[in-house]
Amino acid sequence: MAPPKRPGKRTLANPEWAEGNCRCGAVRFAIMYPALWAWHDHSAATRAATGAAAMTWVGSWKKRFRLLDGEDEIARYEEPGLARSFCRRCGTPLFYERDRSRHVINIPRGLFTGRTGREPRYHAGLKDMPDWAYKGEPVAPLKGFPGIMIERKRKKTAPEGMF
Ligand SMILES: [Zn+2]
Repeated sequence: MAPPKRPGKRTLANPEWAEGNCRCGAVRFAIMYPALWAWHDHSAATRAATGAAAMTWVGSWKKRFRLLDGEDEIARYEEPGLARSFCRRCGTPLFYERDRSRHVINIPRGLFTGRTGREPRYHAGLKDMPDWAYKGEPVAPLKGFPGIMIERKRKKTAPEGMF
């Protein structure tokens, strides 16, 4: 069953589809649940294209993908072996397609409004991870700035026999 062209208030009422949209809402899409795969992309190329330390992608077979709205708002940037699409109104990265997986479309996990049926447990490009990327270090509240956390200084362990 295909999702309606303009679902309106309908979001995840139909559990067979996982829906998402760009920041401004002009581009709306859905993939059939569950997704094919989900992975964290730490590559330098994706970092440069998105501005983020890493991007978590959810992949779907293209035949299980539907564009619900906003076709005219999608801009496409191609380079050898791949294409990246984004919303020309709000700039949100939308789709990442690779020639070597030409039947698959990858979509940022963060654009989905609900569950996709895949846990992102794969990492690509870890060797490219910058030293400023957050890796889960312990944090504590920053005094005077509600909602802001600061990484604690790492305790250096004294070499054995020092004291
Ligand atoms: Zn947009």
